[in-house]
Amino acid sequence: MKWATRIGRFAGIDVYIHATFPLLFVYFGFVYWAETGTFAGVVTGLALIAALFVCVVLHEYGHALTARRYGIGTRNITLLPIGGVALLEKMPKDPRQEIVVALMGPAVNIAIAAVLFLFLSITGRPGALFELSAAPQSFLVSILYANIFLAVFNLIPAFPMDGGRVLRAVLALRTDRVQATRMAANIGQTLAIGFGILGLFFNPFLILIAVFIWIGAAGEASAVEIESNLYRQPVGRAMITDFQTLAPDDPLARAIDLTLGGSQKDFPVVDRGIVVGVLTQAAILRALRDLGPQGRVGDVMGPPVTAHISDRLTVLLENLQDGQTRLICVLSGDRLVGLVDLENITEFLRIRQALRDR
Ligand SMILES: [Zn+2]
Repeated sequence: MKWATRIGRFAGIDVYIHATFPLLFVYFGFVYWAETGTFAGVVTGLALIAALFVCVVLHEYGHALTARRYGIGTRNITLLPIGGVALLEKMPKDPRQEIVVALMGPAVNIAIAAVLFLFLSITGRPGALFELSAAPQSFLVSILYANIFLAVFNLIPAFPMDGGRVLRAVLALRTDRVQATRMAANIGQTLAIGFGILGLFFNPFLILIAVFIWIGAAGEASAVEIESNLYRQPVGRAMITDFQTLAPDDPLARAIDLTLGGSQKDFPVVDRGIVVGVLTQAAILRALRDLGPQGRVGDVMGPPVTAHISDRLTVLLENLQDGQTRLICVLSGDRLVGLVDLENITEFLRIRQALRDR
């Protein structure tokens, strides 16, 4: 993310803070100064905000470490003035896993609140829970309440809150993901209108939340719309049909000629009309060092990854994005009719986007 500085790495995940974040401290410094008029008041207030953001980071780790248990990595966690974001490498495909990952964030806040509640009860003055002024304890009481607020706020069943993901995943158990996202986005926008109306009469803060939810729902709906548009496309629409092939008995010198003479980098290897392997540029370079230009293609090729011409693009896209495969051979029956790589799919998407924007 632009304008973000790394503040540390915990459990193998980098934590960044957004450049606008210090402004929040300056702002609240002024607020506490105006409120208390003492330096101690300002320090306590800022310590409270800092503690809150530690809770927000722990919340994000709740998501990230749960996702890790399902084999999904987290690129980074970024603290924005409005909250935290854990950027997962991808969302779990199984709705049940998505529910658990989404719930573990708020669960962390509930756990923090429970621990503080226990601590305050044991240290003698449970009454302090209801009197926010009791000086040394009020700090912990404020954090306790804030964590309850964080849990409840994040469970609002609307994007971009965790509750929205839970709702979508619950709906996805019964229908497909696209339909579920549409329904969840509609529910979210209905909620936003409700919050907006309540905000007009009661608390203007609710209007802010309404706008936040409205934008989140619209964003999620359009992202999934693009995905579904792609999903509906068969591979045949996006594949490369003008390509060169190699035979297992070809020398590597032929692969070099083809590479230098055209724009193709990876080659399918075909034996009597059947795809038997794939030779990537990386493999060509490695083999040249080991065997020289007379090396045999069949000795250094890798196993082919194939798809049928009527397969959906998203399935292939996932395979390509995993980084396991660079090239997918598209078959019609047994016959090789095309190739798909990541660049090609990206190009296809750009063209479709341009056509839609027209
Ligand atoms: Zn969350």
